[in-house]
Amino acid sequence: MAESPHRRRIAVCPGSFDPVTYGHLDIISRAAKIFDKVIVLVSANLEKRPAFTLTERLLLIEQVTQQYENVVIDILEEELLADYVRRVGADAIVKGLRAVSDFEYGFQMALGNKKLCPEAETMFLTAAADNMYLSSSIVKQIAALGGDISSFVPPEIMPVIAGRLRRPPVPSALDAETKQRLMQQVQQFAKTIGKEGTQE
Ligand code: ADP
Repeated sequence: MAESPHRRRIAVCPGSFDPVTYGHLDIISRAAKIFDKVIVLVSANLEKRPAFTLTERLLLIEQVTQQYENVVIDILEEELLADYVRRVGADAIVKGLRAVSDFEYGFQMALGNKKLCPEAETMFLTAAADNMYLSSSIVKQIAALGGDISSFVPPEIMPVIAGRLRRPPVPSALDAETKQRLMQQVQQFAKTIGKEGTQE
C-alpha cells in the first residue's frame, strides 16, 4: 500500500550532548530542515562519566534550540535506541560524521540498529569543516583550565558551562604566613632531633 504523502517524517538525533556544542547544533538544524519533526535524544552513555546530568543536558539543549519549531528534546534511559525509534515511529536516526573519529563506531551502531529496527534508516550528515574537530570533550578540557569556549558553545549557555567545568586553580606558591609557620615547625622539629640551626 502506498504511504500517505502527508505522513510526518520524524528523525531522532541521539547523543550524549555533555554539553551541547555548535557541532551538535549544526546537525540538529540541518536535520530540522529535512524532517518534519526532530527529536534530540539525550542518552546515558554508560562508558562515559558525564559532567552534566541528563536533565541538565536537556535544559541546555532546550535553551539553544528554541528557534526551531519542529525540534523537541527527550531523554533515553534504560531503553534501547532501536526500541525508542520504533516506539515513536521515527523514520531515521541522524548522526554527525566527523573526520575518522565517528566512522567506526557510527558504522557499528548503524548496522546494529538496522538489525533491531529495520524500518528506520541511519543517516550521517558530514560535519561542517569548522566543526570537524569539535567535541564535548574538547570543550570540557578547555573550560576546566579556564580557557575561552566562546567559539564552541552558544553565548546563552556559555557561562553555565564554563562555571560548572572550571577547576579551582591550584595554589602555585604558599602564602607568606603559611610559609613562616611551616618554617617554624621545621625548626622546632630540627631542635628536637638535635639539628638546631638547620635552614631552608
Ligand atoms: P556520543 O557519545 O553518542 O558520541 P556526542 O554527544 O558526542 O554523543 O555526539 C552526538 C552526535 O553528534 C553524534 O552523531 C556525533 O557524531 C555528533 N557530533 C558531535 N560533535 C559534532 C561535530 N563537531 N560536528 C558534527 N557532528 C557532531
